[in-house]
This record gives sequence, C-alpha cells and structure tokens, in this order.
Amino acid sequence: MKAYKEYFDEENNKFTLFEFEVAGEKDFSKEPVTNLADNENCHFCNAKLAHDAVENLNVKIASGEITVIKCKDCGKFFVLGNSERDWYLSKNYAIPKRCYSCRKIKKQNAQNIKG
Ligand SMILES: [Zn+2]
Repeated sequence: MKAYKEYFDEENNKFTLFEFEVAGEKDFSKEPVTNLADNENCHFCNAKLAHDAVENLNVKIASGEITVIKCKDCGKFFVLGNSERDWYLSKNYAIPKRCYSCRKIKKQNAQNIKG
C-alpha cells in the first residue's frame, strides 16, 4: 500500500510529501498517524489527509504562525508555534534549538549526571 511522509524543503521553506510503499500487514485504520516533523516512524496512508496536513503547515509558515527549526543535535526539522515561542520569550528562555526528542534525551542525560 502507498504511504506518505512529509519532509521539509529548506530551500523553499515549505513542507512537501514523498510517497512510498509499505507492507500491508500493519493496521493503518487510524488516520492520521503522523506527528509532523518530529517522528520518522509515523506517516499517513491517506493521500488527502497527507496533502491537507502539509498544506495546512505551509499556510501557517507563510503567515508566520509557525517557524520550522533544524534540530542542533539530530538535524531533523521541528515546528515551533508562535504561542510556544512567545512563552519562551516571556520567561526569558532561549528559543529551543533541539527537537522534542533530543530535548527529552538531553534532559534525561542531565538528570542521570545529577543523580
Ligand atoms: Zn533532534
């Protein structure tokens, strides 16, 4: 069966889709099964949902509602919403340079060193 995964086209500052084949034995009955830009294991199996999700992201990028940032550690792209960004700014925190997964790993490592 066909599946779709989004990737970020850095040059054009927008998301785009690629299509690939997956083995049919998995249960893809639940749609969508993606966590855009932050999980390489997830993808869409419904072409319309995939296109809608990417289109939705591109509209938000164009309007400045979200920013796409390249993770300092793993190089993957992640999405930062304006409200999230404003929260960091209001606390005088730096804007995240790492994706959610890498932030979690970093936090875990810091705790291991302490403990
Ligand atoms: Zn990362």
